Parts: sequence; structure tokens; C-alpha cells
Amino acid sequence: MSETFRGSFTQQEPIPEAGIDAALAVLRHGRLHRYNTVAGEVAETALLEEEFAAHVGAKYCLALASGGAAMACALRALQVKPGEPVLSNAFTLAPVPGAIASIGARPVFVEVTEDLTIDLAHLEAQAKASGARVLLLSHMRGHVCDMEALMALADRLGLRVVEDCAHTMGAKWKGVPSGRHGAIGCYSTQTYKHMNSGEGGLLVTDDAELAARAVLLSGSYMLYARHRAAPPPEVFERLKLEVPNVSSRMDNLRAAILRPQIALLDDRRARWRRLYQGMERGLAGAPGLKLIERPQHEDYVGSSFQFLLPGWEAARVAAFVAGAAARGVELKWFGAAEPQGFTSRYAHWQYAAPEPLPQSDRVLAGLIDMRLPLTFTPEDVAQIARIIADEVRAAAEARDLAPVAAPAAD
Ligand SMILES: *Cc1c(COP(=O)(O)O)cnc(C)c1O
Repeated sequence: MSETFRGSFTQQEPIPEAGIDAALAVLRHGRLHRYNTVAGEVAETALLEEEFAAHVGAKYCLALASGGAAMACALRALQVKPGEPVLSNAFTLAPVPGAIASIGARPVFVEVTEDLTIDLAHLEAQAKASGARVLLLSHMRGHVCDMEALMALADRLGLRVVEDCAHTMGAKWKGVPSGRHGAIGCYSTQTYKHMNSGEGGLLVTDDAELAARAVLLSGSYMLYARHRAAPPPEVFERLKLEVPNVSSRMDNLRAAILRPQIALLDDRRARWRRLYQGMERGLAGAPGLKLIERPQHEDYVGSSFQFLLPGWEAARVAAFVAGAAARGVELKWFGAAEPQGFTSRYAHWQYAAPEPLPQSDRVLAGLIDMRLPLTFTPEDVAQIARIIADEVRAAAEARDLAPVAAPAAD
């Protein structure tokens, strides 16, 4: 009588036929490198940049090898120096502090609230204590903080903001696309995000010098004039001997796959929203489980779903996750003692020597996370919600719990 979900939490939609055709055209002519063009030809990569810039209303856009490469490029363009502190969210994924560490800088983590956004009071305290001048703001799992309040605070503190939009491509705050509040916005086009090219990243900005630095950093040799969503050559002339080449370009094959997906972003957001709201309805009222309230001004992309099991002991959460897994429902637990799959916690990033963050520890100890791929139907979502509600009830009532290692706070 107990039902089991048979679908896959990691199956994305296929590449649209227009992307497949464009990719085959690139393979047939063989000019995969973005600067390998014939007379009069504009590379797929340059067109992708132009079209993505227009989509988010940015002056400049650069395509890169990954979202992580885009973030590291952004920090380098801002001339973050080795050893310099860079503020970032304690609740994020490993490539974010990794981008900071990759340039020899030092991540300084900021607490997460129960809404799963950055704690602005702690941000102010950490900014003052560290003297940081850059914030790498991660819109983790698509939860966007009050961007007006954040930018006002950043301006007051003299912080430049780089937005990690790996989970918010297509999202908006008060109508402004995510990635367009800070100095630079970074996006990922990795398979599990909102446009799929396997791997890939995009960087946007309105600042001509930052854009030129980013293009030079990505490895443009002296071919920057072949970009379209880039500043005019004079801006490059001033910088071209000063900025190192840190090769991390995107190629024409990936750009060809991505271009037809830009026009799908709005529809994808609407479809994700329907799945997300279906999950909200299915879980509403389940005892012991707290849903995350979405602010009115947040036009979010619901490509994943989170809820809290506040105050639950580790063994009970582990029993719940195991119970759901046995019924085909794949959940991630941010409170697990050991990093698993894509999920790790700030305390696991030991190279950054993280200070304990009690508020984040408390929130993450009960934080459950799942993907909502667009291959799910509304019926799939309803079934998954029924299984979760069932298993939450069973775990809440369970008496004999197998002991688990408690998450280490250090
Ligand atoms: C995936 C991801 C990135 C980086 O993306 P890659 O393209 O995999 O390098 C950055 N931030 C978050 C929160 C992510 O989930």
C-alpha cells in the first residue's frame, strides 16, 4: 500500500532541436574555437554573449568554461589580491568558496537566515571585522534576499558585489533580473542549472573596464575586437599589457547549444514555478516540517525545493532521509556529518579555516533539499509530496533511532 516514486531526480530535458541542429553545423564546419572564424562570420560564442546580454539588459557579457570560472574571473577583474578577504554565504556550494580560494584569496563566511538568504546584520559585522571590499553573493538554491536592502548596505560599506546566479538564471527581484544588481553577475550553464551545455558559464556587467579585464582574463589573445557584447577597443588598449591570460573560454559548440535556450527561460521559470507550488501545496500542513516563505518581490525559478525540520535530532533526520530514499525520493540533507554528492557545508571547507557559525549550524542541521527537474509532471510532484509527508510523520513518531554521527561544528 505504501507507494514508491519511480522517476529520476537528475533527468533534465533534452537539448532543443534547434540547438542540436546548430551544434551539428558547428561540428560539420569544425571551427569550434571561438576565434576560429572565416571572413564575415560571427562566432556562435559572440552571438550567445550578445543575446544573453540583451536578455538580462546588460551592456557586456562574456561566455566562459564554467560558472566557477566566471566567478574567479569576476574576482580577478575586481583585482582581488592573494590573501584578501572576500565575503560570501556560509550556505552555498563548494565552487563558490572554491572560486575565492582559486585566486589565493580568503573566504569569510556570513550566516544564513531561516529564509535561506544571507543575514544582513551578520554581513555588516563580518565586513567591518574583516575589512573586505568584495562580496561574492550566492543566491543559493534560488533564494534571493532583499536586494534593495543588500545593495544599500553594500554601498554604505563600500563593498563591490559579485552575484552568483547559478540558481537564479531567469529570476528577478522587483522586476530586475538576478545578476543585474551587483557590479558583476555570474551564471552557470552546467547540466543541472537552467540552460544546459554540459559545462559553461556567463558573466555580465555594465562596467566597461571590468568587462575588458574579464575578456582579457578569459584568454582573448589580441582578438577582443571579435566580441560583440564587449567595450570598444580603446578600453582594451589601456589594459591589454597589464591583464594576464587565464584561459577559460567557452567554445562555439556549447554556445550553439545554448543560444536557442535563452528564449525558453521565461517559459521554464513558469513551468518550474508550477512544480514548486505543487510541492508547496502537497507539503502544507505536514506536522514538524517548515516551508520556506517566498517574498512577494521575488520572481523565483523553482528548480529545487527546500524545507526545514526545525529542532529535529540528527538521528531522526537521518531516519527520515533513509525512509524517503527507500521509496524513491532522493533528498539532500545539509546537516549530514560528511559531505555527500553535490552537498557540503561551510565547515567542510577546511582550507578556508571557517569560524563556527551557530545560526547557520542550527538552520542547516534541519535543512532538506531536493531537485525539481522539468521532466517531473505535476502528478510526480504530488506523489513525491505524499511520500515526504508520510515519511516525516513516520520519522517524527519513530522510537528506535539508529545513532548517527552528529555534524561537527568545527
Ligand atoms: C553549480 C554552481 C556554481 C558553479 O557552477 P559550475 O558551472 O559547476 O562551475 C556556482 N554556485 C552554485 C551555488 C552552484 O550550484
